[in-house]
Amino acid sequence: MTAPRRRILALTGGVGGAKLALGLARMPDPGALTFLVNTGDDFEHLGLSICPDIDTLLYTLADEANPETGWGRRNESWRCLEALAEMGADTWFKLGDRDLATHLIRSAALRAGTPLTAVTAQLARALNVEHTILPMSDSRIATIIDTPLGELAFQHYFVRERCEPKVLGVRFEGSAAARMPEGLEALLADPALAGILICPSNPFVSIDPILAVPGLRAALAASNAPVVAVSPIIQGAAIKGPTAKMMAEMDVPRDAVTVARHYGSLLDGYIVDTSDAHLVAEVEALGITAVATPTLMLTLQDKINLAQAALDFLTSVSESTAS
Ligand code: GDP
Repeated sequence: MTAPRRRILALTGGVGGAKLALGLARMPDPGALTFLVNTGDDFEHLGLSICPDIDTLLYTLADEANPETGWGRRNESWRCLEALAEMGADTWFKLGDRDLATHLIRSAALRAGTPLTAVTAQLARALNVEHTILPMSDSRIATIIDTPLGELAFQHYFVRERCEPKVLGVRFEGSAAARMPEGLEALLADPALAGILICPSNPFVSIDPILAVPGLRAALAASNAPVVAVSPIIQGAAIKGPTAKMMAEMDVPRDAVTVARHYGSLLDGYIVDTSDAHLVAEVEALGITAVATPTLMLTLQDKINLAQAALDFLTSVSESTAS
């Protein structure tokens, strides 16, 4: 009898998480990967249902991501956006012609009553993505950022206002009534599940919305598989996006330890960058096994190396908790 294929669950937002996701998918023997993706950034624009983090992951894994912009699809053209601008429509959210195909297919399917999980699986098949991309819920959840300008829907804060307003608070509208996606509980109970990774994504607006789905955090904690996070903060700075700015605004120390403390008892293990190796002892003082390894992912090989290091660390954490 052949052994069941090793399974890994990875929680992720968009850009930072997708880099590690690509590393995992391009490993020589990745096993079966499931990506549990933030949908708090999802929004309706010009009548279309847009899921920025799901799309970043889909395009990255399909080798369809646009290397020039860092978002959207490669080989893109902008005829529709140009026409929208000529006709006086909102163009602060850039929609390329090829990207529009994804939003049209998704919007039509959702309108016909297909759940987001099924639509996402359909898009993954269409783009030849072999791993599973699971929205954090089929229910609609919206990340709302409280700022001195008032409450802003996430994309208004992130794209239209370029993350400039101070963050006074974050809430996840619709979260209390949301349900975990089908299949997640079965995956968490599967003995072939070798580990749960929290990608180096923004903890406050990419991972927290996932953990806010009722029962989800408890289900991860109750699983026999170890939970390991990779720090999105290197030497007190974020590689991209507002993670470090948000930490400063929340008045918490801007370092990798703060992110470990934020996830708290959920974590069995934590990976910091080699340049932050001096923080390992501080993380271990929180009762979390920690390791330092290169976590800056510039090349595909960096991504594969970090994926391999994360899976090796999951194995060692798993062995030490079992003994
Ligand atoms: P978003 O949904 O597009 O904002 O993306 P994520 O939340 O997934 O990722 C944003 C986070 O990724 C930021 O906190 C970045 O510091 C982090 N990040 C981006 N690139 C890297 C990298 O190469 N290494 C590490 N460790 N973190 C990264």
